[in-house]
Amino acid sequence: MGRVLITGGAGFIGSHLCERFLGDGHEVIAVDNLLTGDRDNIAHLFVNPKFTFLEQDITNYLYVAGPLDAIMHFASPASPVDYLELPIQTLKVGSLGTHKALGLARAKNARILVASTSEVYGDPLVHPQREDYWGNVNPIGPRGVYDEAKRFLEAMTMAYHRTHGVKTRIARIFNTYGPRMRMRDGRVVPNFMCQALKDEAITVYGDGSQTRSFCFVEDLVEGLTRLLWSDESMPVNLGNPTEMSIHDFAVKIRDLAGSKSQVVFRDLPVDDPKVRQPDISRARRILGWEPKVSLDEGLARTIAFFQGKLKAT
Ligand code: UDP
Repeated sequence: MGRVLITGGAGFIGSHLCERFLGDGHEVIAVDNLLTGDRDNIAHLFVNPKFTFLEQDITNYLYVAGPLDAIMHFASPASPVDYLELPIQTLKVGSLGTHKALGLARAKNARILVASTSEVYGDPLVHPQREDYWGNVNPIGPRGVYDEAKRFLEAMTMAYHRTHGVKTRIARIFNTYGPRMRMRDGRVVPNFMCQALKDEAITVYGDGSQTRSFCFVEDLVEGLTRLLWSDESMPVNLGNPTEMSIHDFAVKIRDLAGSKSQVVFRDLPVDDPKVRQPDISRARRILGWEPKVSLDEGLARTIAFFQGKLKAT
């Protein structure tokens, strides 16, 4: 069993990764500056002697004593609302933070998986998106801070792989949802669920014809784990190919929540991608992976989570 460092370990996906690696018998060190992460996500892990938490900003330095077998680099704001509010931090963690994470992987001779994103495809002109598509990104638009940071992350990761022979893995993560998303992080799943559960208006941006494809976090974590321990150094899409319009998604969540909410329409954010769906043939072939949790089941489990949260507030 190994020793695994998880940057962004107190975040939504990061905290699920901490649980998974501890469950697999590894020692886990979570690093997070708690800018968008939350100590509550990992509070239940502190009793485990194999778990350590370091509250630290990885853009400045990343030092860990002792050996490391693997690094999962997940630190970054990830909601469009967050990276609009934190543009410089988003750019810094994707660039400087990634440099630190790769440097540490090299120093410790550890393998490293970096969290990239479907946003590297921008507002895609190829549909569904395959890994060999280079994307359609506006570098100076409001989303550019995230998209370009993650494109830089990929470039830096390939450079460390080619120049220093570091065992690198690049996951291009598509929309993911599940328990531990923040109620007010601004993404569509927490927004729609909290609005539906409170019988408030459900805010569809634009006319709701834009599409997304949603993957339950448990499925994603399985794909990430398989990718980490694989030999694949080229980017791999991880997501659920079930695609739907945001308007249909709003109605589905309202129905599943048994809500009386009305659907209302608001302005579409700048550069909001019109379509998004992963082509996961590479993940299927190389990792033998595909999502298992149906949208209805995943949404029901997530609604139950937000129900609990709302009761507690
Ligand atoms: N969206 C929406 N209402 C909301 C929040 C988001 O209609 O209250 C839309 C958003 O414009 C986008 C989609 O839902 O088309 C997914 O948005 P999210 O912020 O979750 O992430 P994105 O996929 O854009 O990165």
